[in-house]
Amino acid sequence: MSDWPHLAAVPGGTVEIVVGDITGLAVDAVVNAANRTLLGGGGVDGAIHRAAGPELLAECRTLGGCETGEAKITRGYRLPAAHVIHTVGPVWRGGGEGEERLLAACYGNALALAHAHRLARIAFPAISTGIYGFPPEKAAPIAVGTVLACLPEVVVEHVIFCCFSPASAELHREALERLAR
Ligand code: ADP
Repeated sequence: MSDWPHLAAVPGGTVEIVVGDITGLAVDAVVNAANRTLLGGGGVDGAIHRAAGPELLAECRTLGGCETGEAKITRGYRLPAAHVIHTVGPVWRGGGEGEERLLAACYGNALALAHAHRLARIAFPAISTGIYGFPPEKAAPIAVGTVLACLPEVVVEHVIFCCFSPASAELHREALERLAR
């Protein structure tokens, strides 16, 4: 088992893999694995809303929801992070319904939104790998591969994969070692 955090220089910036709670990270934006209503839910979404306070839900109510694979931005309120980028991962239905493309779109659209807002440091949870059932070993290389492809094109310069377990972090580290060559 590797030690965490794990840090790597890659084209366009740096990628870090940590194990922990994303609500504690003082970055320019944390990404929320939300649902299409953007009105809160379980897992990381519930944790972000609890930590950010009711002002976050109030701003989310003004957004009109979000399609799967898309992303929307709010302020971070009581979080140490300045912003929350809400994206809606695909529900895993066996892999034949565009789930991989939609998961990549979550990472790509979140980074594009961070770029548009001139944000330098952003942290992702392992989108879709909890309640939405995306196999973690399939999701990690999509997450890492999409970030590596986008990083040279955006002003974002530091991406943190905030994994909730050492097993999830190990999958991201393996993907990074394989894809960053
Ligand atoms: P989804 O509905 O997109 O699957 P979940 O929140 O259920 O979203 O899970 C996504 C990932 O976030 C899972 O790997 C889960 O273990 C992880 N997770 C849950 N809470 C937190 C947290 N506070 N910080 C970081 N990751 C978290």
